[in-house]
Amino acid sequence: MESEQEKKVAAPSPKKGLFIRTYGCQMNEYDSQKLYKILEKEYQPVDAPEKADLVLINTCSVREKPEQKLYSMLGEMKGLRRERPGMMIGVCGCVAQQEGDKIVKAGRGVDFVFGTHNLSLVPSLIQLRKQGAPPQVAVNYRDEWEELPLGFAESDPTRHGQTAHITAFISISRGCNKNCTYCIVPTTRGPEVSRAADEIEREVRIAVHRGSKEIVLLGQTVNSYGLDLSPRLSFVKLLDRIAAIPGVERIRFISPHPQEVRKDFIDFVVSNPKVCHHIHMPLQSGSDRILRLMRRNYRRSKYLSIIEQLRSRVPDMAITTDIIVGFPGETEQDFRETLEVMDIVRFENTFSYAFSARPGTAAAAMGESMTQEEKLERLQVLQARQEKITDEKLASWVGRETEVLIDNYNRFHENCFQGRIPQNFMVNFVKPFEGLSLGALARVRIVDRKRFTLIAEPLS
Ligand code: SF4
Repeated sequence: MESEQEKKVAAPSPKKGLFIRTYGCQMNEYDSQKLYKILEKEYQPVDAPEKADLVLINTCSVREKPEQKLYSMLGEMKGLRRERPGMMIGVCGCVAQQEGDKIVKAGRGVDFVFGTHNLSLVPSLIQLRKQGAPPQVAVNYRDEWEELPLGFAESDPTRHGQTAHITAFISISRGCNKNCTYCIVPTTRGPEVSRAADEIEREVRIAVHRGSKEIVLLGQTVNSYGLDLSPRLSFVKLLDRIAAIPGVERIRFISPHPQEVRKDFIDFVVSNPKVCHHIHMPLQSGSDRILRLMRRNYRRSKYLSIIEQLRSRVPDMAITTDIIVGFPGETEQDFRETLEVMDIVRFENTFSYAFSARPGTAAAAMGESMTQEEKLERLQVLQARQEKITDEKLASWVGRETEVLIDNYNRFHENCFQGRIPQNFMVNFVKPFEGLSLGALARVRIVDRKRFTLIAEPLS
């Protein structure tokens, strides 16, 4: 019979708590998911820093005041550290890549800093600190893909609720070669590096095995995938391989760059039944003069021609975009040209921002040409116009039949589901219906709309 002592030896030691605060884009979300996976043998996710033995802050330097956010969070951690001796703090993401050892030298109790290409080093950085080494810094670029454990941690609080695994976000490239004058990404994430197609395919298969129905491919300029691979493999060829995987029901990708859009891309997107009819393609400005100053490498006519090619073949192809207002030197005329493009394209949605200079970028050296109030006024005009268009687009769906991928519960109606149509509008069911389940692709009729969402009933 097994002795008491043997039983004690066999019992696994309880896992420690890991809390990750993630700022910024889907790329950072993906990295946080990978960090949970890398550390899952020793750590389990917890939902608050107060319960954590290790806190990682995954930073973003694209939006405003990232360093302030980082240092204010580090300030909050100070008190916690006193209450939880032995707790460690690590900083990663774009601010970590940019600031490196400055973060450690700031004396805010950071145990280690690691860059966007150094995620796999985290276990050894933790180990070194446990052994009494001084605070560690690892922010080296790699010119090859850093392969991380495949799949995601089983219990991952960054996936927003119990059902979010139905959509799997999978990174296919890292960094960017474009050097837009306002953007810090090429500095913080380095030149573009594509991931091997076999590894991407393996990760997709694992996601499908875990129940994912929709695959979202991530890359800064996702459609320039593969240009650095030898032999080269185009983004379209990669899409084709993923579409052939049994169990993949839907494919999306963020974000294609207009300069890299070619005929084979358009042909594939409009004709492959698994590719959702929604493209998020950043415009940034409708004025050629401003696009040149932004170093965006395409002109308004090229952008409009892509939309025309897509919508002439798929009239309800949803297009969403990013727009910056108040770029240095933007005149009233430039701004009007952006509004004109909005009226021509009639985007389903726009993510718009007032220009704010990122230190270290070429645009920061151009100097501001408008006050903040003037920028915000333009932003309000643009957003009001978009709201009207979005509302009209939502209204146009009422009465139509379409397909919804059910990916979560409706927070406001008990036992009801929510999901998305291929065009990415969110759909709510406001009554429980027999035969619906999480992960199902349901044929529905859109019966109403709210401010930002559609209301659907299943077709019997
Ligand atoms: S394409 Fe331009 S905006 Fe996008 S990541 Fe690259 S440099 Fe930044």
